[in-house]
Amino acid sequence: MLAENFSLTPLSSFLPPLSTGELRRLDHDHFWHPFTQMRDWCASEVDPLVIVSGEGPWLIDAEGNRYFDGNSSIWTNLHGHRHPSIDAAIREQLDRIAHCSALGFSNEPAIRLAAKLAEIAPGDTLTRVFFTDDGSTAVECACRMAAQYRERVGETTRRRFVAFDGAYHGDTVGAASLGGIPAFHGLFASTGYEVTRLATVGALESLPPAEAAEINAVILEPLIQGAAGMRLWPAGMLRRIREWCDRHGAFLILDEVMTGFGRTGKMFACEHEEVVPDFLCLAKGLTGGYLPLAATLTTERVFAAFLGRFDELKTFFYGHSYCGNALGCAAALGNLRVFEEERVLEGLPAKIEAFGHALQEAATRCPAFGEVRQIGLIAGIDLVDPDTGAPLDWREETGARICRRARRYGLLTRPIRDTLTLMPPLVSTAEEIRAAVEALVRAAESGD
Ligand SMILES: *Cc1c(COP(=O)(O)O)cnc(C)c1O
Repeated sequence: MLAENFSLTPLSSFLPPLSTGELRRLDHDHFWHPFTQMRDWCASEVDPLVIVSGEGPWLIDAEGNRYFDGNSSIWTNLHGHRHPSIDAAIREQLDRIAHCSALGFSNEPAIRLAAKLAEIAPGDTLTRVFFTDDGSTAVECACRMAAQYRERVGETTRRRFVAFDGAYHGDTVGAASLGGIPAFHGLFASTGYEVTRLATVGALESLPPAEAAEINAVILEPLIQGAAGMRLWPAGMLRRIREWCDRHGAFLILDEVMTGFGRTGKMFACEHEEVVPDFLCLAKGLTGGYLPLAATLTTERVFAAFLGRFDELKTFFYGHSYCGNALGCAAALGNLRVFEEERVLEGLPAKIEAFGHALQEAATRCPAFGEVRQIGLIAGIDLVDPDTGAPLDWREETGARICRRARRYGLLTRPIRDTLTLMPPLVSTAEEIRAAVEALVRAAESGD
């Protein structure tokens, strides 16, 4: 039945309204949450916080409480919730079609988005765009392209990937095998890609020539590792890695799933060091934090290696059902429209400076705050023992308890163990950013 001919009754006539208490009970009975100790989750009377709506950088729960979205809904949201331009882009597309396959057909939003991404990508060599669903598959796609490329051109001894300690590239097996956080990735050490794991760019530069010749690609999160606890790389490292890759014929894969789309103050983090990768992985912010969509950008050189007669089997054998999803691509076009029309990047330096001042001031005032790291609108605050300055025992879950108390002061965010994180949406005002830092200080200084 077409929507025009359909007299619409609200969904609530099919699903009768539930109280927050009933929603919580059903959540506890059925909804298994990601990276969550479900015994603790299900024991709590107040969890889950059921979010019912959003407005700019604010989230509103079922009881009408307003919270600042202090980690941009796990690093995805950019221009706020219910942004008119992104809402309209999705609605317009919804009036045409939500999804059709990219196997054998194409669609306008995906075509336009591919062209637009090629246009805004760093440098002028990233002209080919492959769509997937999320950060993990954007990385899978890049690695699979790099691996199949070496087969296509007969460089079959280049099998290894260089990845760094503390890296996080997603949770599918291939992406997880590149990850360097033992609790998440230990199980995959023996499956997935053959990985040379290094700690520093110096270690890369010291690889013996025979090992260097076996490297297919170096993959990293440029400038800052997110899941490792917002760890900053030394300045100049990215440039040196690019130079090493060029010298040794290795690809550079940049995972900008977190850092892309303005988070670091520039559209893409690699622009800070004027580095252009061979593969650029984008997801989280791509749709402004609205819908799951990802893109892997690469060069004509890589693309050309997959061209040939059908029976030569040079085709890139890889894809997902929702490749080039029309609604997701429409949301992404809405996101890029906001960047252009609202000159979002131009407004960032003042916000980043206000954030930096607030963090520095908080660090001097709050004895529980140790090292504070910031780039752009991303920050990590290491918690320490307020009396001795020593690191905390992670089993105490101090970071999680502070973030929980921060709800009282109108802030939602998540720690990474005992590193507090803040990643305000780009739309936040300087005043809202200062208030979020203040909420963390108050939460750190108050008791349970
Ligand atoms: C979140 C993240 C991923 C994984 O993305 P998903 O959408 O969660 O699959 C990969 N790399 C980085 C740097 C990330 O921050």
